Amino acid sequence: MTAAKQRVLSGMRPTGQLHLGHYHGALKNWVRLQEEMECFYFVADWHALTTHYEHREVIEQNVYEMVIDWLAAGLDPEKCTLFLQSRIPEHAELFTLLAMGTPLGWLERVPTYKDQQEKLKDKDLSTYGFLGYPLLQAADILIYKAHWVPVGEDQASHVELTREAARRFNHLYGREANFEALIAASLEKLGKDSAKRLEKSRKKFQETGDEASFDGAMGFVLGHAELSAEEKERLQGWFKGTGRAVLVEPQALLTEASRLPGLDGAKMSKSYGNAIAMREDAASVEQKVKRMPTDPARVKVSDPGNPDACPVWQFHKIYSDAETCAWVRDGCPKAAFGCLTCKQPLIDAILKEQQPMLARAQPFVDNPKLVREIIESGTQKAQKVARETMGDVRTAIGLNY
Ligand code: ATP
Ligand code: MG
Repeated sequence: MTAAKQRVLSGMRPTGQLHLGHYHGALKNWVRLQEEMECFYFVADWHALTTHYEHREVIEQNVYEMVIDWLAAGLDPEKCTLFLQSRIPEHAELFTLLAMGTPLGWLERVPTYKDQQEKLKDKDLSTYGFLGYPLLQAADILIYKAHWVPVGEDQASHVELTREAARRFNHLYGREANFEALIAASLEKLGKDSAKRLEKSRKKFQETGDEASFDGAMGFVLGHAELSAEEKERLQGWFKGTGRAVLVEPQALLTEASRLPGLDGAKMSKSYGNAIAMREDAASVEQKVKRMPTDPARVKVSDPGNPDACPVWQFHKIYSDAETCAWVRDGCPKAAFGCLTCKQPLIDAILKEQQPMLARAQPFVDNPKLVREIIESGTQKAQKVARETMGDVRTAIGLNY
């Protein structure tokens, strides 16, 4: 592929303290990716409004607190760009433009739409904003031309919608009026022989879908010094027969714990009251784990248990080493020990995981101004990229009269 680093984009809603589900489901990947790729991570305060429009004070309290959670997890503002969604109105502009051609059915069919309305019954979520939020999310991703979106499993359908939105946009607006002439001009730059070879492998790709022809041709095109980035993009679209890829189709990137259960076995979520916060105090962690329900069939200590029916086992799978896991799998069905004994290594592991996080958070807790500065400079960097894309988008649609 290209020598340039691939882009990554993801966001989180500032609606409360981040919990272990956020950490193991997404943040861990964010931290890993900052070493390899060009990463943009944003505070999704507009998205928070979709469910908290009546309680905006919750959002205000959590914007900078959440960034401290990110820094605690190990995000390094020298390596990645951290920013605030509402400070970049270009996101809203792209959302509006995408909305014009997006069929209502696409949004009504997103599984989280009905799901969340069911689960958050105390909130009136039959709003235009709530229906449209996956499309806003599509705009958030597409405006950075991101290749990868590290999220939890609940978000996978939103990334799929984003891909559809990009495809539709490229299909509608990716074909410039003088597309063929522009392609001919680029091919001429490549020289007769190379151009011929390229046309041949294009034919093969379009007839047979042969991936190797595509990879080979794109390796050649993307590495060519004479071609501008725009020309490369256009050639790619010509090769695939889709027009110029103004917007890039991203892919979701899941962790192994892409759906961490909460204390009750359902998905860990702050709105379901079953979460342990990343920076929860030690006494509370201990109490929550001790009170966690276990296999319902195990009423007395002498009753044999089944780890697969127990939320505690799900946590062992993430927190415990092979030896401890084997001890649980072996001992639980034999009732060799009680549930509290089984939970102790888990409590220890969670508290141990917290130590470096608390240490990293401390300077920012002591001096919140530092956090604001990080967001300030990140927002400026992100906006530059967002403006560039919007330039392309307006030109593609023809909004430059
Ligand atoms: P909550 O579900 O606690 O209300 P949220 O839905 O408001 O949180 P988001 O900002 O939507 O939080 O999610 C942030 C990221 O964390 C998303 O990528 C989401 O998939 C991931 N995530 C949230 N909860 C979990 C979980 N229990 N397991 C794995 N990933 C999760
Ligand atoms: Mg969510």
